[in-house]
Amino acid sequence: MRLFEAIIDANHRAVAGDAEASLRPADFADELPIIALTCIDPRLNALFPNVIGLPGEQFIWLRNAGNIITSTLSSTMRSLALACAVKGGREIVIIGHTDCHVAQTTTTVLLDRLKALGVDRSQLPANLSEYFGTFGSERQNVIKGCSFARSSPLIGPKIPVHGLMVDIQTGKLDWVVNGYETLHAPAQPTMAKTDFATMGALGAFKDFDMGEMKFPEMKIGDAAAPGKPAETAARPGMITVPPAATPPPPPIKKSPLPPIKTKPPLNPYKDFRRG
Ligand SMILES: [Zn+2]
Repeated sequence: MRLFEAIIDANHRAVAGDAEASLRPADFADELPIIALTCIDPRLNALFPNVIGLPGEQFIWLRNAGNIITSTLSSTMRSLALACAVKGGREIVIIGHTDCHVAQTTTTVLLDRLKALGVDRSQLPANLSEYFGTFGSERQNVIKGCSFARSSPLIGPKIPVHGLMVDIQTGKLDWVVNGYETLHAPAQPTMAKTDFATMGALGAFKDFDMGEMKFPEMKIGDAAAPGKPAETAARPGMITVPPAATPPPPPIKKSPLPPIKTKPPLNPYKDFRRG
């Protein structure tokens, strides 16, 4: 079992209530550290790196609004490449999350909010959707980001590029793109920024679904789907990370959102110090 297969396995056992679920980072020394690209959503602060089950020093964390990669040579790709070349990152993972507000913001709403901030429309790029990389489906956005990263000339053939989704309520991780399967896929041509049809035709990203791709002016699909109330409750039996290892975040006093009750499901230090 390779690193991310073990991570997903341990995460699912922990979310299901297995108090013994954990990961032994020492068993995966050749695959660490990892580089994760996530959204800027503050609700993720309490989840990572605990839901991955790795200690912080093995978790290189990049963030941008919507965990978006806009091209094979974008600024985010530059950071991913340097994280590999300078910081020794061995595997890349792009992790989208449920209820992403970037996915729920249309270009019309975005324009209104920028205008309220005093931003003049005439000073903005003509194609706002392309510039900001806005999207309607969190899952398709992850697939698109993985495709750009996998085909980027900045990322060598030795680095797996995975795509995951995390449930922001429960911390449950799910595969979107298995980077071990796409690692040795035939070299892909560099894509135009919005060449979704080409991306969908690539066998390595067979899960890409043009029908699922929603554009910002359209009704949001995944994000607007009815919630899963049974899965939003805190799960009993989740492992609590020792405070010395990962201090719990301070309570948010003025947030209109209810505090996340989910406890970190994985204990990154449980076996690491022995191993
Ligand atoms: Zn988000």
